[in-house]
Amino acid sequence: MTKIFSTQKQPENGTKYAAGVIRSGGLVAFPTETVYGLGANGLDGEAVKRIFEAKGRPQDNPLILHVARKNDVRELWTSVPERAKLLMDAFWPGPLTLIFNKSSAVPDEVTCGLDTVAVRMSENKTALCLIRAAGVPIAAPSANLSGKPSPTTAQHVIDDLWGKADVILDGGPCRFGVESTVLLLTGVPTILRPGAVTKEMIEAVIGETRLSKSILQPLGEGERAASPGMKYKHYAPEAEVIIAEGDAKTAAGIIRREYDGMTQSGKRCIILTSEENYTFYKGRHYDIIGSRRDERTLCAALFSKLREYSDTVDVIFTEAVPPDGYGLAYMNRLLRAAGFRTVSE
Ligand code: AMP
Ligand code: MG
Repeated sequence: MTKIFSTQKQPENGTKYAAGVIRSGGLVAFPTETVYGLGANGLDGEAVKRIFEAKGRPQDNPLILHVARKNDVRELWTSVPERAKLLMDAFWPGPLTLIFNKSSAVPDEVTCGLDTVAVRMSENKTALCLIRAAGVPIAAPSANLSGKPSPTTAQHVIDDLWGKADVILDGGPCRFGVESTVLLLTGVPTILRPGAVTKEMIEAVIGETRLSKSILQPLGEGERAASPGMKYKHYAPEAEVIIAEGDAKTAAGIIRREYDGMTQSGKRCIILTSEENYTFYKGRHYDIIGSRRDERTLCAALFSKLREYSDTVDVIFTEAVPPDGYGLAYMNRLLRAAGFRTVSE
């Protein structure tokens, strides 16, 4: 049986009980500022295996270890590079995951055999209470079934993992709604997954930082992913997702044409648009996801909207945004949800 505690009024509600579950090898879903995580004792290989089973996660996709203090990285990495110290001071607690060489304390189940490990410190109060009470780093990927859009509310976790997680801590909707920025710190710093901490923000602290090639394009045949998670079809609802490219007017023209064609052939369609663009779609079935002037609003609502329409429509039309700043995180998730299916003039 899955137990639920609401932590919205009191962040620590249920965290003592949940910490006991973690220590005895169980699974706890908990809120962070990015998405909900499904956690297990990060130093216990057997407990970590249960995360992969519950999610149906591929065996070669490593997990992030969540810590409650910056100093905790000392026991997880072989050393703490200067760049990591600067970044932790600037962005922890917050939505930035750092990858460096792993120490022998980290079980292979966490890293899927890699010699590096990803670590992050969330700013969410419930997450921090839970990790402190557990007294161990908590290994936690997103608390969804593998391949589905990440969960941004406790209801999403219930929909995917009821009966599989031992405890769900309900902290309300997640603030950012897309996963953390993942930064590899061995060699030239490289962003493997874009998030709310942007390339510009990182460069302001440590200088030159690269973007992994696989952020906006699928891997070529036989190519190796720097971040194993990037090679899988991800964030995908049941419905087909189609992205229209070009400026607002061009994208709207494409969507109206495709929408009308598909509707006539009996398909149920929805257009996910913005506060700025919805007037292009009057008379059609649309929903406003946020504002193009602040891509954070688009990020915050994306997964929730993809889930909402996942099995009530056949096709979800969306508009591309410029892939910079927060727009890069948005396009990275949207392209994967769409299986890279874009339409341009
Ligand atoms: P999730 O926690 O489900 O959002 O996934 C964690 C992401 O971090 C995935 O894309 C993983 O592939 C990536 N990741 C975790 N550990 C490593 C690592 N040691 N090297 C490269 N990527 C990693
Ligand atoms: Mg995930």
